[in-house]
Amino acid sequence: MTPFTFARAGDVSEAVRLGAHARSKYLGGGTNLVDLMRETIERPDALVDVTGLSSTIEEHDDGSLLIGAAARNTAVAEHRAVRVRFPVLSRAIVAGASAQIRNMATVGGNLLQRTRCTYFYDDEGSRCNKRTPGQGCDAVDGFNRIHAILGASSSCVATHPSDLCVALAALGAVVHLQGAGGARTLLLTDLYRLPEDHPGHETMLQPGELITAVELPALSFGADSVYRKVRDRSSYAFALISVAAAIELDGDTVKDVRLALGGVAHKPWRAWKAESALKGQPASAKNFHAAAAAELADAKPLRDNGFKIDLAQRTIVAVLNGLAEQASKGASA
Ligand code: SF4
Repeated sequence: MTPFTFARAGDVSEAVRLGAHARSKYLGGGTNLVDLMRETIERPDALVDVTGLSSTIEEHDDGSLLIGAAARNTAVAEHRAVRVRFPVLSRAIVAGASAQIRNMATVGGNLLQRTRCTYFYDDEGSRCNKRTPGQGCDAVDGFNRIHAILGASSSCVATHPSDLCVALAALGAVVHLQGAGGARTLLLTDLYRLPEDHPGHETMLQPGELITAVELPALSFGADSVYRKVRDRSSYAFALISVAAAIELDGDTVKDVRLALGGVAHKPWRAWKAESALKGQPASAKNFHAAAAAELADAKPLRDNGFKIDLAQRTIVAVLNGLAEQASKGASA
């Protein structure tokens, strides 16, 4: 591990001041960053511990929630308002990691965790444009079963590993940021970049900018939401495909729907095309199939991951069928 200095920030302005140093990193639970430092893939010369900053979960009168970036994943998953109003988020967090990791990991850190592409971690023997710009990407022609089918480039085909972020994408979460130039907000789906020619540039964060909170806007049908994760084994594995969804019916018609996918792209993938295809249409299996096909129409499989296209469509349809059934039972109860 490369030597580094360590400082614990007492408040946001101190954190931003300490984080202005060019090669500093903010430290949350450390469940990804410390691994990357041990492997010398991340080599910060200063760590700013931000775990003492806001970890509260504020419930607002309009039904929205404001989650401090230092909130531990477990605290969010177990919070009553989250479980009742946004169960998709609780389920995504529980599906995301072991209890020990959930107890350590923070919301801010989860948003900034890095891909689990195996070539990215193989510092000694593999080429990786994300780790070393211009080096090449051994995943493109390598073993790429877990890699992206949407939004990838010839420079990088990695996927974003977070489950929590897929739920946040579906819920229209807003990320609160603080930098030397002031505070701003971004839609979570706008926080991330697709790889294009610069896969090392993963987010829209300015140098030294700190995630201070994540806001969940009120969602009247958030209680009818679900997260389904398809993976190679039932625990401690990253998603091959995941689906976060919520639906609102008006009789048999889809009044509103939220849909996001994990395991398919360099960022949590909001399924805008599928959502738009479904709104105002009958909530039928046929329409769910058509919407899933529309979303995956631009998918570009690699040598080993063509199965993801069919798997994603089937998972979307299964999740929407289940939600529609649940919503219509609720309406007739
Ligand atoms: Fe690196 Fe991206 Fe290629 Fe993986 S897919 S080796 S992270 S450039």
